[in-house]
Amino acid sequence: MNDLIVGIDLGTTNSEIAINQDGQVNVLPIHGNPIMPSCVGLDPAGKLIVGQAARNQLVASPDNTVLSIKRKMGEEIRVRLGEKEYSPEEISSFILRELKQEAERQLLQPIRKAVITVPAFFNERQRKATQAAGELAGLEVVRIINEPTAAALAYGAGAKEGETMLVYDLGGGTFDVSVVVVEQGVVEVKASHGDTHLGGDDFDQLLVDHAVLQFKRLHNVDLVQDLRALRRLKVVLERAKRTLSDEPYAAVREEYIDGQHHLELELERHDYEQMILPLLERTLTCLHQSLTDAHLSPKDVQKVMLVGGATRTPLVQGLLQERLQLDPRFEINPDLIVAMGAGMQGSVIAGQSRHSILVDITPHTYSTTAISFRHGEGDLYCVPIIHRNTPLPASKSEVVYTMYDDQPAAKVEVYQGEDELPQSNTPIGDFLVEGLSKAPEGNPIVVHFDLDLNGILKVTATEKVTGLAKSVTLDTKGQHHLNLEEARRNISSLVGETQPTAPGQAAAETAATPALAGADELLNTAKDLRKRGEALLEKNISPEDADEIRQLIHQSAAAISENNWTVLNERNETLSDLLFYLED
Ligand code: ADP
Ligand code: MG
Repeated sequence: MNDLIVGIDLGTTNSEIAINQDGQVNVLPIHGNPIMPSCVGLDPAGKLIVGQAARNQLVASPDNTVLSIKRKMGEEIRVRLGEKEYSPEEISSFILRELKQEAERQLLQPIRKAVITVPAFFNERQRKATQAAGELAGLEVVRIINEPTAAALAYGAGAKEGETMLVYDLGGGTFDVSVVVVEQGVVEVKASHGDTHLGGDDFDQLLVDHAVLQFKRLHNVDLVQDLRALRRLKVVLERAKRTLSDEPYAAVREEYIDGQHHLELELERHDYEQMILPLLERTLTCLHQSLTDAHLSPKDVQKVMLVGGATRTPLVQGLLQERLQLDPRFEINPDLIVAMGAGMQGSVIAGQSRHSILVDITPHTYSTTAISFRHGEGDLYCVPIIHRNTPLPASKSEVVYTMYDDQPAAKVEVYQGEDELPQSNTPIGDFLVEGLSKAPEGNPIVVHFDLDLNGILKVTATEKVTGLAKSVTLDTKGQHHLNLEEARRNISSLVGETQPTAPGQAAAETAATPALAGADELLNTAKDLRKRGEALLEKNISPEDADEIRQLIHQSAAAISENNWTVLNERNETLSDLLFYLED
């Protein structure tokens, strides 16, 4: 059987899965839509639900719904879902498992291997957490690649020779920018920069803060303590934010947001742009830094590629135009491009295709520490071994020395980051080299760093005179505390055994309409919602609400007749939210 390797964009907000089918990389629809919300929940019966269904109950059932788990990846925390608590790796594994199983259903073939993308600025711990999530979902993660690199690969495959591109990726939770050069069939990343805590979620938060303030002024009620009200605000304001990408104004109305007063707000694009400008300025600082690192200036850039949902904000495009005098563009759907690049890389690794060769880099500097007496007293400072923007895989050594005569052991500490001082960088791990020979101070120890294609570090320290070596693949904290066996037990009640769909009788029946499984679900939801909506129309509701319900039902019917699952999905979501408030 051919070695199928899928590509997965495991996003903060949305996730996608792509695969090479007959020489073409396609993003597969999940539940009828290529974009699956990265949302995990429990339904009223305690059954695990993932994707749009979980997103739909975000407001109705906040304690049973988890959102934006990617922001917590690599942290040693547990999040509550229903009665139990789960690690970020476990929650992420539910998302990956859903993508895998939905894809298996369509391809009628088990999927065991994947390339998964992460923000370029994800550190060691976050990368390992992503690998662990893959394993928990029953996937061998054959490669972790950086999101902007995946996007570059998808663009680069069609790019002209000798083209220099900027990939600007602003998603829900993270920002990444990369300078990419395409030459002789090689897509080479020259520099990457980013911010793992900057994205559309932050724009939503600014709007929420604004609404809370307005509400307080008007009604003297503080909504900040009211988790449920805050979630409702987040949902409506995120929607209003998207409206502001196309319209100069957006009206927001939420009834009885605090149980007594309605929230009514008109947002103006101009004001909104003033709110988010400082955040967008931060993305431009990153952008200039990555150009400087690549020894380029804006005029050397031929193309700016926009990736991620938040780049649909007109101000993003406006600022790039103003600052770079370039027309940024979306040549490939900005929501799907990262998954497509991952799918391409998967098919290259599987030996199915030979398109572009990819040269990726590390966006971080990796150092060990040594004591310096430069300023009189002995201070610990970082000795860079692998500098940022070094192509991967990278293999470099430095020598450090013992401080005392007959020093029996030496501690090797490893840091990630650009600062000279260890305390300003991220600690990656440390270990002791013991049993050193009796030697005067200055006994050389060679510290060797191997950074693999996944951006994962292996460190070896060797006493030069004896060749005594101590080698570790640095076990970072995130991994340390996540025992895979325990994690499997913890999630087993929700996911049961993995049973890849074997090609066979049952599978053959669905083969004729491969994408229909998801569509079916959407249709059923639409039918349910329609019934509930019609029941409400019989009751005593306001004419405006009645109108909105009728309109939504009408729009759903139109979407169904056009087989437009994306639109149907959106209408379902809106109607479900609306019904929920009205039925209260
Ligand atoms: P991630 O990579 O984090 O999963 P996506 O690339 O899917 O994120 O982008 C999600 C973000 O894009 C969300 O913050 C969402 O609100 C925002 N977004 C989606 N569509 C628009 C739009 N039309 N205008 C502005 N922001 C948008
Ligand atoms: Mg993304």
